[in-house]
This record gives sequence, C-alpha cells and structure tokens, in this order.
Amino acid sequence: MSETLGMNVTRTNEPLPEGVKLPIYMDNHATTPLDPRVLEAMMPYLTGIFGNAASRNHSFGWDAESGVEKAREQIAKLIGASAKEIIFTSGATESNNLAIKGIAEMYRERGNHIITQVTEHKAVLDTCKKLEKNGYRVTYLPVQADGLIDLEDLKRAMDKETILVSIMYANNEIGVVQPIKEIGELCHANNVLFHTDAVQAVGKIPVNVIADNIDVLSLSGHKLYGPKGVGALYVRRRNPRVQITEQINGGGHERGMRSGTLNVPGIVGLGAACELCMNEMATEAAREIELRDYMRAKFEKALDYVHVNGNMDHHLPGNLNMSFVYVEGESLLMGINDIAVSSGSACTSATLEPSYVLKALGLGDDVAHSSIRFGLGRFNTRAEVDYVSDKLIDVVQKLRELSPLYEMVKEGIDLTKIEWAAH
Ligand SMILES: *Cc1c(COP(=O)(O)O)cnc(C)c1O
Repeated sequence: MSETLGMNVTRTNEPLPEGVKLPIYMDNHATTPLDPRVLEAMMPYLTGIFGNAASRNHSFGWDAESGVEKAREQIAKLIGASAKEIIFTSGATESNNLAIKGIAEMYRERGNHIITQVTEHKAVLDTCKKLEKNGYRVTYLPVQADGLIDLEDLKRAMDKETILVSIMYANNEIGVVQPIKEIGELCHANNVLFHTDAVQAVGKIPVNVIADNIDVLSLSGHKLYGPKGVGALYVRRRNPRVQITEQINGGGHERGMRSGTLNVPGIVGLGAACELCMNEMATEAAREIELRDYMRAKFEKALDYVHVNGNMDHHLPGNLNMSFVYVEGESLLMGINDIAVSSGSACTSATLEPSYVLKALGLGDDVAHSSIRFGLGRFNTRAEVDYVSDKLIDVVQKLRELSPLYEMVKEGIDLTKIEWAAH
C-alpha cells in the first residue's frame, strides 16, 4: 500500500471549476446542513421566545407552546398524520427505542415476537438485541441481492405471538425503498403493529402513514435540513389506536409518552424543515435523480468493473452506492480526501469492518470495502457532481494501474480459480 500512498492523486494544480469549493460535502445520509431558512425560523426561539412550552401561567410559555404546536402541524402534514399523533424526541435513535421498546412492553401480554430485517440502522438492531436479552424473540429477515425484503419471508415469519414488525422505509447506505404499503397491509391483516424507521424517506419521497398502513414512524431533524438533536415519533391514534409505554419518566410531557422539557428551537426548526421539504419535494427529487443518474452514467462510461448496489427502481433520489472493484478501499478514500462521502467500510471501530448492509446483499469483503456511498442533497450542484465523478474516475484508474489483481483480470485469468500462497 505504501506505493499507492505516495502517489500524487489527491492534489492537482489545475484551477477548480466555477462554483466548486473544497472540501465537497456529499454525505447527506449521515447528516444534512441546516437550511438557512430553517435557521431563520429558529432564531426568535433561541433568543426572545425562550419560554418553557409547559409553562401554563404566562405568555412566555404560551408563545413557546404555539411555536411547538405549529411545528407539530407542519410535521403531521408532511406524513399525512394529525398533529396529536406527533411525539417529540431527541432524534430518531430515541424514536426507534421508544417505538420498539414501548410497544414490546405495552403488548407483552399479547405476545413476545418481533420481526425486523438485517439491514436496519443500528438504532433498531441494537434495540432488538436488547429486547432479546429481556426474553423477547426477534426474527431478522434477510434481504435479497437487491436489498429488498421478500414479502413471502415476512408472511412466513409471522406467528400468533408476533406483536410488531419494524422495517425501515429507505436504507441509509444503499437507498433502497422497501415495499412499505404492502408490509403494512400484511401487518394489519394479521393484527400486528407496523413501525418504520423513515428517517431517510421523510421529506425526500412521498410518505403517507394512512396510505402506507404505518402505525408508528420515526423521523429525525438533521436528515432533512433541520437541526440536530430533535426528532419525532408518529403514533397512530385510530384504526388501530397504538399505545406505547414511556421509556423516560418525568413531568408527563408529550401525553405521558416522553417526559422532558421540550427543545423548542429544535422543534420549530424541525417543523420549518418539514414544510420546506414538502413544498420542494417534487422538484428537488427530480433534480437529484437527474444528478445521480448522470453521475452513475459517467462512472459506467469511463470505468469497467463497477456496479451499483441496491435496487435502482425502488430508490431514494439522492443515493448512489457503487463498488469500484479491484481497487483497495482505503487507498480509494485517501485519493479523494477533499470529498466527503462514506465508504463500504464501517469505521465505527479501530478495525475496518466491511459494511453489514453490503454484506447482507452478498458482497464479498473486498467488494464492500471498495464501495462508495454518494449522498446527494439539496445543496449539491452539477459542478460538484462533475468534480467528484472526474476525480473518482481518475483515482480509480491510477490505482488500477498499480493493481496486480486488475492486471490479471484484464488478462483473462479467473481469480476464483487461483490458489493463493499461504496467508
Ligand atoms: C441517522 C439515522 C438514524 C438515527 O437518527 P438520529 O436522529 O441521528 O439519532 C436512524 N435511522 C436511520 C435510517 C438513519 O439514517
């Protein structure tokens, strides 16, 4: 690897194209920047309107409360819910915990079985693992090679002990959108509650809790150009009326489901962010799809041995996850260090683990490591897409010139038939 490290692939002397400033942010599934219009809506609540929304005796409290109630309406409207069905939380990690643990606890008498899937976010997976320790039974459905679950698998997994299905709306790594409406239908037909982690979908594609048969839904502010540290949980109030056991005890805020003084500026920001997403969804989605497809086409034209991960017909507008086979993942990332993207390596620990999501699709460790997630968002421009794709193509080509594996493949040697020397 030392030879690739020394290679001058990261710095060029060419002037930057018009409108491109480095570093470029293209990691909008990890978090999104705060939209300046959202900040503007929040500002009064960070200064003059500082009241506690639970203070009932004076206008400071009432003003804060009215900001909160407006946000509740804005959020509800975006997902086809009613304002009373929105519970504020500190983010989607908490929303997922509250939904899954809260339902597991409330419906324990009815059954102890929960169904989820292997490509969920850790906030769902780790919550389910915790419940397993506490005597619940959890089924982790596999996904197909394109990232979608098989509805037949879901049908088979349900039994009379099943109380909850938790399947994410859209995946944060590969952008795949699950058949949510059909999953919800199956759940309702079997008298099972349906929770969805819709963090990546809400505000990006149409989500409607009624049409989609969703009972409980998690969303997060900082994934839709709102502030960090605020999120919401939708909890259905009729057909069926869902009950959840609170996980944080205190003053009985949020109809007893989530105590704690409300983060008023954050909540106002989340509401404003939802309204902007709703107003701009159609045009923004079309713009991102166009950029994404353009980027993919550039890669496929310039490079061989690249492939797309995840079903592209059921996909988030701004997501493109591609494997650049026969390059070493770490060198690839180092070569594009002025671009913020995510790789197929989950660098949560010191060791470089391949992404469990990509592995669930059947990708080998080396292919997973050579994968890049491009997360396009509201503020990415075509000039940036051009810069990123040109740079990546250049780096991949240079790394492959040094790759003995790539050389062998080009010469027609079947790598699977080679017996490598002892490790
Ligand atoms: C980011 C994310 C979360 C966690 O949300 P926070 O608000 O950061 O806690 C959960 N699920 C998915 C799919 C995400 O992308």
